[in-house]
Amino acid sequence: MTIAIYPGSFDPITNGHLDIATRAAKLFDKLIIGIYDTPNKHLLFTTKERVELARQAVVGLANVEVKSFTGLTIDFAKKVKAQTMVRGLRMSGDFEREFDMAMMNRRLFPELELVCLMANPEYQFLSSSLLKEAASLGGNIKDFVPKHVAAVLRRKVKSKM
Ligand code: ADP
Repeated sequence: MTIAIYPGSFDPITNGHLDIATRAAKLFDKLIIGIYDTPNKHLLFTTKERVELARQAVVGLANVEVKSFTGLTIDFAKKVKAQTMVRGLRMSGDFEREFDMAMMNRRLFPELELVCLMANPEYQFLSSSLLKEAASLGGNIKDFVPKHVAAVLRRKVKSKM
């Protein structure tokens, strides 16, 4: 059975993430979206909220699961018996960061293969941080996230103002 993880912060999950997950789900028997519990980032949503938003986003994808994890991504991959890690690549800047991380991960766990899928042109510019900025300034975000995420995000940014 081929198992892949798709790790990230998903703060919150966007249509760009969902596009990668949908495409990756066709390549593997099982895809596990891994949500970092303790990334070195300032996050808007709690881990529980990020997991719940991602779960609702993938209800239609039968072979996709969502789990949170702490510690090294490679240890999460080992725990769930994944052979592959999936990441999405946008044009701006993702490659260098992914390359460095991939080199480090390869040293730590050489058996884990990395598969990078090119971002859909429609979502090349889309990042969770830009999305949050647009939402906090009252921008229309409906084209960038699933409906349930848009509603929760609008409420969340309002409560932080
Ligand atoms: P991280 O903190 O690991 O970058 P993110 O949630 O920002 O977590 O992203 C998780 C993965 O999804 C990364 O591989 C990232 O490059 C990819 N990704 C983020 N936004 C998009 C998008 N709009 N299109 C395709 N891939 C994306």
